[in-house]
Amino acid sequence: MIIIEQEILTKIKQIIPPERIFLDLSERYSYSYDASFGQYLPDIVVQPLNTEEISQLVKLANHYLFPVYPRGAATSLSGGPLPVEGGMVLDMSRLNKKLMIDRENLLAIVSPGVITANIHKEAEKVGLFYPPDPSSSHVATIGGNLLENSSGPKGLKYGTTKEYVIGLEVVTPLGDVIRTGGKTVKNVTGYDLTRLIVGSEGTLGIVTEAILRLIPKPQARKTLLADFDRLVDSGQAITKILSSGILPSAMEMMDNACIRAVEKFSPSGLPINAEALIIIEVDGHPAAIDEEIKKCEDLCKKAGASNVRVAKNEEERLSIWNARKMVSPAITQMGPTKISEDATVPRSQIPAMMERLKQIRDKYQLNLVVFGHAGDGNLHPNIITDKRNIEEMKKVENAVSEIFEAAIQLGGTLSGEHGIGLLKSPYMEMELGGTGLLMMKKIKEAWDPNNILNPGKIFPSHGQTKVALT
Ligand SMILES: Cc1cc2nc3c(=O)[nH]c(=O)nc-3n(C[C@H](O)[C@H](O)[C@H](O)COP(=O)(O)OP(=O)(O)OC[C@H]3O[C@@H](n4cnc5c(N)ncnc54)[C@H](O)[C@@H]3O)c2cc1C
Repeated sequence: MIIIEQEILTKIKQIIPPERIFLDLSERYSYSYDASFGQYLPDIVVQPLNTEEISQLVKLANHYLFPVYPRGAATSLSGGPLPVEGGMVLDMSRLNKKLMIDRENLLAIVSPGVITANIHKEAEKVGLFYPPDPSSSHVATIGGNLLENSSGPKGLKYGTTKEYVIGLEVVTPLGDVIRTGGKTVKNVTGYDLTRLIVGSEGTLGIVTEAILRLIPKPQARKTLLADFDRLVDSGQAITKILSSGILPSAMEMMDNACIRAVEKFSPSGLPINAEALIIIEVDGHPAAIDEEIKKCEDLCKKAGASNVRVAKNEEERLSIWNARKMVSPAITQMGPTKISEDATVPRSQIPAMMERLKQIRDKYQLNLVVFGHAGDGNLHPNIITDKRNIEEMKKVENAVSEIFEAAIQLGGTLSGEHGIGLLKSPYMEMELGGTGLLMMKKIKEAWDPNNILNPGKIFPSHGQTKVALT
């Protein structure tokens, strides 16, 4: 049990009942992780149930100057919710009661703790569709998705989370409650605060409700799996298809190490000798997609695919996607530490980026595997290592730097979807330049003058000293 300044604890207990306050080491320990490899212990964990409680807690934090770290399901791969400066973790997972589908206006109104897959399910029951579909959608919360501007396989055709958020309720860093946007699809009244908050990684406000845009569910979809003896040919197939006039709803790639890892972890009938495979899905009118999938099949063959298999039924389609969803858990079995990057390049540069990744792997002799949403240039180079091996971690650090440099030189970005969080903050200036970074910092300082919300993230500094709760 930690010793908390009694005065602060008494005030917290006036807002939140004791059964939703966690102080024991074992309880706090469970909140010290996310899906990255960092670990930081919070001083206290609180589970709010409504906006009013959050507003009061944030006002208290400003009064006593302790940090507040919002947390959804902690599946962040960039250290987003980690309490790097101690203080309070705000567990948003119990704020999950509202999931309302407004069929007439094609909207979903949701609490931040709702699991994203449940939004998919409820929308599809009435013939509607919420496209953003991160591979973690069965565990991650919509709040986490909003604050990371998450996407996933369907980003290629349908865009990222921000394209579907039209209104928010937010507790500001000073504890006030505001609404941004609304229920109208068109809204140009003043600055677009909705877009500023989406993707702000919990540094500019705590989202307590969101209004999401839905679209009609596509009538049909077709999926194929193509395997290649040469990684570079799979990259060529991707660029050829994208410049052929077809826009698939998803286009995923896996390299040989990922294929083998999946086959070992959860045998799915993938071709273990292929150097790479790609999964392509098209959706839309049944007649159109028959033609499109045939064209994708031909283009894969022309680019050098050794085998192309089109799923004959829903069962086969799901089995292909299940194999893809197994990649992350499967490669986790390859070593104790998984460093997951998501450097992203313009689509035309995919083959060049693959080549650069191969060179980095050879140079540092690291276990570097690649999979990802190749259709939108969002590759996931993952380095499997052991963080206790200091010597190897030095090589990893250099390799990661070179991955980011390569992406930026090719006209890309540090992160396509996982966010900056803690782990990528040292590289921000590399992409944005000093002035670009400063303009972002000024926004943070104006919104959060006491640096209360998620300090230590995005910007490569640790903010001002806080009065610790201990
Ligand atoms: C196996 C696996 C697969 C993944 N696949 C994908 C993928 O395909 N695409 C993708 O984009 N990501 C993917 N991710 C990353 C991760 O799932 C996403 O970033 C997700 O959106 C995080 O949601 P979460 O609920 O876990 O949020 P957390 O990890 O808890 O938090 C994420 C960030 O949001 C902030 N936050 C959370 N809730 C709120 C709130 N209500 N108000 C303010 N701030 C808040 C936190 O402070 C933190 O900065 C994957 C992760 C794993 C482990």
